[in-house]
Amino acid sequence: MISLSKVSKRFGSTRAVDDVSLDVPAATIHGVLGRSGAGKSTLLRVVNLLEPPDSGTVTVAGRDLGTLTPAGLRDARARIGMVFQHFHLLHNRTVAANVELPLKLHRVERGERQRRVAELLELVGLSDQARKFPAQLSGGQRQRVAIARALALRPDVLLSDEATSALDPGTTVEILDLFVKLRDTLGLTILLITHELDVITRICDSASVMRDGKVVEHGPVAELLATP
Ligand code: ADP
Ligand code: ADP
Repeated sequence: MISLSKVSKRFGSTRAVDDVSLDVPAATIHGVLGRSGAGKSTLLRVVNLLEPPDSGTVTVAGRDLGTLTPAGLRDARARIGMVFQHFHLLHNRTVAANVELPLKLHRVERGERQRRVAELLELVGLSDQARKFPAQLSGGQRQRVAIARALALRPDVLLSDEATSALDPGTTVEILDLFVKLRDTLGLTILLITHELDVITRICDSASVMRDGKVVEHGPVAELLATP
């Protein structure tokens, strides 16, 4: 579902991503673990089409991102959901309006928008919070709103940029369990970056460890843990 082949990205003399290849099969969760500065965010931005790589190829859901027209790129980007550490919600809009926003931007008709918002809020367990504002919610609930919004356009792939790093341990587990549910019920493919080993061991099917732009280890999580 996501495939990177020999992808590199430099900033001046910094090799932020250095010859990285990885494959994430459909309906699996792949984690990228690394310290600050390892190149994780740059890797995610390359997959999210925000940062064109200097070399290598990136394929998401069968589309080679290097060959797309601007319109094709916009379409491909809509098929990729994204969640962040600090949620990036609109504070002056209700929960329902936040989730509805991508549907409005894509000119989905009103009745269909309302149906999908109700479905999405149910999926993330927030049906009873639709009319609240983000400030009235807990951190975990805010992240659920952000996840519902990320899924509004029915993406093939969800990218998570440290989605649980601002949450307490109990709430982290709830969000990670939600990721597993999305994998198992929707068949969603999830690529997440984290600096926390616990996130990898709890939910990832496979993982890569990054250091100085390079993937220094990768494979099924059970195998990675077995290596000393
Ligand atoms: P991580 O997400 O693992 O913390 P990043 O991908 O943010 O790592 O950064 C990898 C390296 O690339 C770091 O040395 C960082 O300083 C550098 N870098 C990232 N983005 C930029 C940029 N826009 N301009 C210059 N250097 C950058
Ligand atoms: P966090 O710390 O919550 O992960 P930041 O505010 O540091 O988020 O943003 C991380 C990066 O993602 C920034 O470079 C920002 O420009 C980018 N970004 C923010 N919003 C979006 C979005 N909706 N889609 C893609 N990238 C975004």
